Amino acid sequence: MSLVQFQTNAAELQRHIGNVATGCTACDHETVRPFHAAAGECIFRLRCSPCNFTKENTIQCPSQGICGLVYDLLTRDHAMQDPTWSNVHFERLCNRPCEQINCYISNPGYIDVPAFELLDLTAMIQICTTNKSIKDTLDEHDTRILNQVC
Ligand SMILES: [Zn+2]
Ligand SMILES: [Zn+2]
Repeated sequence: MSLVQFQTNAAELQRHIGNVATGCTACDHETVRPFHAAAGECIFRLRCSPCNFTKENTIQCPSQGICGLVYDLLTRDHAMQDPTWSNVHFERLCNRPCEQINCYISNPGYIDVPAFELLDLTAMIQICTTNKSIKDTLDEHDTRILNQVC
């Protein structure tokens, strides 16, 4: 996730919800009701795993739906609409956006890597090929090379 993309996400959160600084600790990725559920139809058709929209017993985020929106934004920016939630502390995502990037690493085990600079090459390459905003800046040739390295 580039800085620009983070700013875009932050602006969108702000626009929908107002002050995001308070955050939320009540939700996790398995139970949160996605923001798009309000539209009555799932917008994620590429996912390999079920969207929370299709699950029963999800909960509406008590902080004005902010976690559902985080769920939607990060899922939308994933090439397969399937972020690796086990790599992030979900409850921190709305006010510690620097952690958002770890959900674009396909391999598990990166949850406690504290900073982007400390990620290994495999993680960085996976981010480049699964984060849509970054991937869209690369051409086919770049992507092919990255996939070979990975
Ligand atoms: Zn959905
Ligand atoms: Zn929440």
